[in-house]
Amino acid sequence: MESFKTLREAIIHFADYENCKSLMMKLRWPDGKVKCPHCGSEKVTWLEKPRVWKCYTGHSQPKFSLKTGTIFEDSPLGLDKWLPALWLVVNCKNGISSCELARDLGVTQKTGWFMAHRLRYALKDGGFALLSGEVEADETFIGGKARNMHLSKRQRRITGTGPKDKTAVMGILERGGKVRVSVIPNRRKKALQAEVRKHVEAGTALYTDALMSYDGLAQDYAHQVIDHAVQYVDGRVHTNGLENFWSLLKRGLNGTYVSVEPFHLFRYLDEQTFRYNNRGKEMNDFDRFELALSQITGKRLTYEHLTGKDREPDTALI
Ligand SMILES: [Zn+2]
Repeated sequence: MESFKTLREAIIHFADYENCKSLMMKLRWPDGKVKCPHCGSEKVTWLEKPRVWKCYTGHSQPKFSLKTGTIFEDSPLGLDKWLPALWLVVNCKNGISSCELARDLGVTQKTGWFMAHRLRYALKDGGFALLSGEVEADETFIGGKARNMHLSKRQRRITGTGPKDKTAVMGILERGGKVRVSVIPNRRKKALQAEVRKHVEAGTALYTDALMSYDGLAQDYAHQVIDHAVQYVDGRVHTNGLENFWSLLKRGLNGTYVSVEPFHLFRYLDEQTFRYNNRGKEMNDFDRFELALSQITGKRLTYEHLTGKDREPDTALI
C-alpha cells in the first residue's frame, strides 16, 4: 500500500473512499476474506451504492460497513475525516490544535475538538484489553521540580507543603507487555484499587509495594507484596519494571519544569506511554498511524464498555 509522510498527504489520500476501504480491509481482514462482524460468516456480498456488505446467514441487521465493529461505528462522520484526524492525533508531538484540525478537515472547530478528544481517549486506553500474566502496580509523584525554583521559594516548598505541589501518578505494567499510566487524585485505597480493577484482569499475579492502600486486592488477584523497608526483590515479587519506567519518565522531564496542571501532564504521560509501549521499533509517522489504527479498530466490545461507563457524554455527539 501507498504510504505517506504528512497530514496534507493523508487528507488527500483518504479523500478517496477506495483508499479508506483498502486500508480498513487490510487491517480488519488481513487474509482478504471479509467476515460478517456479527456471525463470522464469509457469505457476504458488497453493495456498491450504500457501501455496505450484506450477510446471508439470516440474522437481524445483516448489513455492515467498514466502520461496524470499530470505535467509529456510531459516528455519522466518514472515514475521510476520521483517518486524517487519527494521523494528526498520533503524530503531533506538541498536542493537537482543534483549529488546525477543523481547518484541514473542513469541519467546525467544535467537531474537530470532539474528534481529537475521542481519538485520544480511545488511544489512551490503547489496546483496551485488560492486563494479565504478571502485573506490577506502583505510584510516583511528578512535577514541581524544586531545583528549578528560586532558592527562597524552594525552601518554602520543601519545608512546607511537601509533595502537595506534585501530581500523583499511577502506573500498571504487564511484564513483557504494556504499561498504563494515569493521574490519580491521591494515593488512598479507593483511587488505587479502582485503577487496578479497571486495567487488570481478575486472577492475575499482582505485585505492589507494602502501601496499605493495596490491602484487600488479594480477594480478586494473586496479590504479593514487596516491602521496600526490607528488600526490593524477592524472586518474582518486585516492582522493578515500573521503577525503570519512572526513571525513564523522570529523565525525560530532567531539567525542565513541567506544569503540574493535569492537562499538560496528561499529554506528556500519554506521549511517554505510547513511546514506551512501542519501544524497540524504529517507527515513522506512517507506522505509528497504522499501529494506532489497528489498535482502535476491532475493539467494539471494550469500547461499548467504555461508552457505558467512562465516556464523557459530550463525545457521543461525534
Ligand atoms: Zn452474519
